[in-house]
Amino acid sequence: MKKNIFVYCEITEDGHIADVSLELCSKGYKLAKELKVKLEAIVIGANLNHIAAELAPFGVDTIYLADDNRLFPYLNLPHSSIVSKLISEYEADIVLFGATSIGRDLAPRVASALRCGLTADCTSLEIGDHYIKKTDTTYKNLLYQIRPAFGGNIVATIINPDMHPQMATVREGVMKKETVRPKKNMAVVAIEVDKYVSETDFVVSIIHRQIEAPKVNIKGAQIIVAGGYGVGSKENFGLLYQLADALSGEVGASRAAVDAGFSSHERQIGQTGVTVRPKLYIACGISGAVQHRAGMDQSAQIISINTDPNAPISHIADYNIVGTVEEVLPKMIKYFYQNSK
Ligand SMILES: Cc1cc2nc3c(=O)[nH]c(=O)nc-3n(C[C@H](O)[C@H](O)[C@H](O)COP(=O)(O)OP(=O)(O)OC[C@H]3O[C@@H](n4cnc5c(N)ncnc54)[C@H](O)[C@@H]3O)c2cc1C
Repeated sequence: MKKNIFVYCEITEDGHIADVSLELCSKGYKLAKELKVKLEAIVIGANLNHIAAELAPFGVDTIYLADDNRLFPYLNLPHSSIVSKLISEYEADIVLFGATSIGRDLAPRVASALRCGLTADCTSLEIGDHYIKKTDTTYKNLLYQIRPAFGGNIVATIINPDMHPQMATVREGVMKKETVRPKKNMAVVAIEVDKYVSETDFVVSIIHRQIEAPKVNIKGAQIIVAGGYGVGSKENFGLLYQLADALSGEVGASRAAVDAGFSSHERQIGQTGVTVRPKLYIACGISGAVQHRAGMDQSAQIISINTDPNAPISHIADYNIVGTVEEVLPKMIKYFYQNSK
């Protein structure tokens, strides 16, 4: 058995490897090194000549390339046929997908075709052993699939010792995208598509597609000024926009702030929002509930502005400013406008 790690690499609308897939390759590279196995990527789409160069800096050993005009944009049936067959043929032990709309559509179908398990929406992955007392059996080198459970109140570690491959979808932004020295002998295997798909895989055809550009880019922002329920009103959120403007950053929000109508859902950060890892996260009037922290605790520096010095956010913040957003934010805005523009 080869027992390699596979990453399904998604293709973006503009024909590049999606960030989440590069994040997974970075994580996959580390896991593969720990297990002393290879990291392999599956890329399915059209006009993929440039893809090998995009993946090379992420430590991939082999790329299985299914390059065919019929395979872009994404369609569930042909993509799942190719992925399932490649996984069986090359005996993958671990398979990772991004928890994107494509990954969430594709991975369950692949899991059901292969009759294996699937853990959705992981926020962390590790390798570990598991001992079962009843049978006195130790399972070695399992994939620990870690994700929040029960409304985010616990962090569950899910294992799948009996079924193979072990498969997981992973949230966007939780793994760090890190390049390594490209492998000298990276192999690109061109897939003969007709061997992997049948005519019936194309019974569903797309008759209309409408692509909406994302309205905000908090995922990629280096500085985020985020507001919570403590900001008090939609009008007060205007202060956050001013500070974000002075710092060339973006505005984020807690769920309580979104629910109260202070901000829109696409800015929500946390378990049911987006995951971010900016260089600087300024949390204004945010208590720091576990579901919020799940989306921002990987930020490099955290500043909290809160009236309560003991709010949970204070335990993970690098700097705590005790005060109201109404008094602190205007001073910060004035300072940064004077010094940075
Ligand atoms: C399944 C599930 C999923 C969830 N997903 C998310 C998620 O994705 N993202 C998310 O954020 N939450 C999520 N939540 C909700 C989460 O549990 C919290 O309720 C929410 O994060 C609280 O938001 P908050 O910190 O803005 O509000 P609060 O908890 O009400 O905190 C307000 C804070 O503001 C401070 N404050 C008050 N007045 C001022 C002032 N004038 N100036 C400065 N500080 C002030 C207070 O001291 C307090 O610390 C989820 C919950 C569940 C059950």
